[in-house]
Parts: sequence; structure tokens; C-alpha cells
Amino acid sequence: MRIELVNTGDELLLGDTINTNAAWLGQQIAALGLMVSRHLVVSDGAVIKEAMAEAASRSDVVLVSGGLGPTSDDLTRESIAELLGLPMELNEGIKSHLEAFFAKRNRSMSASNLKQAMVPRGAIVMDNPFGTAPGLYFPAELSHSRGWDTHFFLLPGPPRELKPMMETLVEPRLRAMLPDGADRRVLYLKITGVGESDIVEKVEKKLEAISGLTLGYCIRNGDVDVRLSGAAEPVDIGAVIVREHLGTCIVSEDRRIIEEVLVQTLLERGETLSTAESCTGGYMASRITDVSGSSRVFGHGFVTYANEAKQKHLGVSAELLAEHGAVSEPVAKAMAEGALATSGADHALALTGVAGPTGGSDEKPVGTVFISLASKNASTIVKRYYYPGTRDRFKLLSSQAALEMLRRRLLGLPLA
Ligand code: AMP
Ligand code: MG
Repeated sequence: MRIELVNTGDELLLGDTINTNAAWLGQQIAALGLMVSRHLVVSDGAVIKEAMAEAASRSDVVLVSGGLGPTSDDLTRESIAELLGLPMELNEGIKSHLEAFFAKRNRSMSASNLKQAMVPRGAIVMDNPFGTAPGLYFPAELSHSRGWDTHFFLLPGPPRELKPMMETLVEPRLRAMLPDGADRRVLYLKITGVGESDIVEKVEKKLEAISGLTLGYCIRNGDVDVRLSGAAEPVDIGAVIVREHLGTCIVSEDRRIIEEVLVQTLLERGETLSTAESCTGGYMASRITDVSGSSRVFGHGFVTYANEAKQKHLGVSAELLAEHGAVSEPVAKAMAEGALATSGADHALALTGVAGPTGGSDEKPVGTVFISLASKNASTIVKRYYYPGTRDRFKLLSSQAALEMLRRRLLGLPLA
């Protein structure tokens, strides 16, 4: 099944708005085991009609986003009516939805909003509980007059309106169009601590030998997603192979990232975590607190950038700092143990390193980081890593390695 996207809006071409709808829709389509064939991004106005015609001439399904609003530059509805030769009719259901929408917000409805209640004949209205612009679905029959056999879905531009509509009203229809729709699956195995090339080496040949399995990789934020898609059986067989060869490196099989997995695991165990960060400047604490529910497992995060801060808040001794330097194994260990003692948490992660671009030495080049994990019921571990590159990459990969250290301890896995 061939699917194209048409994203409309001057703001997308001007670069004022990043086309997040294209990325998100791409992922949703991928999750159906399909792939978007092409994106077209076009300006507001008449060009929308051309873009839809072009996409329809090549595709079974065209998803259009934007231009369903009440203003004069919102022309998607009118464009498709012209394209398919359908007259516009007032839809009473939408009209009352609009009236209720405005009444609830104590606002009066302007005449221009009524434009949104006009529907090309034959189109199926997709309700929008989060805004005024309803979506529209044009079953393929409506395109036969043009010699196509193409389904059109028109979606609102604002992501908070587009996403629920896609999930609840478009995806079920797309699934129904697939021959094995009900059976089709996509599994994401999120792997951390191993490079993509190692993953390829370990499993690719075996996965490629499975008939009916589509394999994909995506590197993101310090880990690699291995994506298996196809009918349930080949996906299951593939998953067994990945688990067998990379099992201990699999963070999740449901797209959760490592901090989400950690917060969940700590919650289940009734344990807490504190952090002591030098070179990452609180980035790791920020990642943890991005997760809802983290307040129940995370109470103390120390950002101890200066030596004095390490001494004052974590009890790292001046002698240790003088003897080994702030970026060293003993100091990382003392930071973790200090954070553990001060916070009373069950686990404490500490990082100290050289983010660069200045401050490196032969012995400790830019990118060197020491990570330590202290726990109430286990001995402290400390390990040296090397992540040269930009400061934000360094922070990302260092915090990732630290979180992975804790994940391994919680699951009783050896340190990689
Ligand atoms: P529209 O329905 O085209 O008037 O868009 C309304 C709002 O949705 C504007 O704030 C746009 O910036 C936003 N929007 C439209 N298209 C996209 C897109 N492809 N990705 C992200 N936001 C978008
Ligand atoms: Mg617009």
C-alpha cells in the first residue's frame, strides 16, 4: 500500500514551525508495518490542490495535514472539493459541535467558523474533540471520477488535534485496508550500550533469513531501536533471535527509554535514587525528572561543579581531590558514596569528566568520564568511559552510561 503525506502551511516552508507532523505520522505509519513513500510540503492556498492531485496519482492513500481552519488561507477543504468535483454542503452535526465548542468556552462564534461546517458531499466527518476543525475522510470511490482509486484523509494542523484523530479514526481504517491488517505487528527492541555495527554483526544475517520480516534500525539518544515488522509469526521469531544475542542490552520492547524503565523499576522495588553530577551539570537529574512519577523515587540531585561543592555537599576530601584530580576514579566513587550518605537514597550515581573542548590532558583527554554507582546493599562500582565530541553529546552519552549502570545493577546483570 502506497501512502503519501501532504503537509500544508507557509509556516513549515518558512521554517517557523518544524514539520513534526511528518515525523510523527511517519512513525505511526511505520508502526503499522508500512512506510510513507513521499512527503510534500506546500504553501497555503491553491497549490494544495496540485499537491493532492500529484500525490493521488501515485498513491493508495493520501494524508493531508493543515489548512482546515476558519481563516481565508485555510483552503484544504475547498481544494479537495474542487479536485474531486464535489459540491459543498452544510453539515448540521459540525455546526452544532462548533456552537457547543464556543459556548463551553464562553466565546461567540464568528461567521468564518461556519466555513468549517461545510463538507464536500460524500466525505465522512472525523470528529475533533480538541479543536474546531473536523477531519474529513474521502473513501476511494470519491476519487474514481478522476480515474484514481485513492483514499484521502484530511487532518488538522495542530499536533494535539491531529494525533488523537490519526490514532482513533485514521489508523483503524488503514489497518482495515491491509490484507493481513489484524495480524500485522511492529516490535521495537530498544538496545543500549552496544553500537549499531555490533548489533548488525550479531543479528542481521539471522534476521534477514526470516521470510516476511522487515528489519530496520534507528539510532537515537544514545541507543538503537531494532524495528521488526511483518505478520506476527516472523516478528516473534525475530524477537527471539534478538533476545538470544542481545538480551541483556535490551532496555525495553515497548519504546520506553531507559529513564522511564528505571523509574518504573525503582517504583516497583520501593527504592530511591540520588545523583551527584559534575560534568553533566544536572542533565541526568533532568532526564530522570522528565519521567512522570519520578518524585517517588528521586529526591536529591547534586550538581557539584566546583571542587568546593564536591567537598561541601558530598564530603569529598580535599586530599583526594588534590591527589587524584576532580576527574578520577577515586573522586567519582567518593561523590557517589557522599550522595548516598547525604541523601539516604538506596542508590546514588555520580559522574565526573572532561566535557571539553578545553581542559583535556594526555592522561585524561577530552571525553573522559568516570561514572560510579553506590548502593546501600552492594559495593560501589566505578568505571571509566570515553565520549569525545560535542558537550551535549558528551552529556547525553555519559548520562546514558550511568543510567545503564544502574539498570544493570537493578536487574542483577553484569556490567557491560
Ligand atoms: P493549520 O491547520 O494549517 O492552520 O495549522 C494550525 C497550527 O498547526 C499552526 O500553529 C501550525 O504551526 C501547526 N502545524 C501545522 N502543520 C504542522 C506540522 N506539519 N507540524 C507541526 N505543526 C504544524
Ligand atoms: Mg494554516
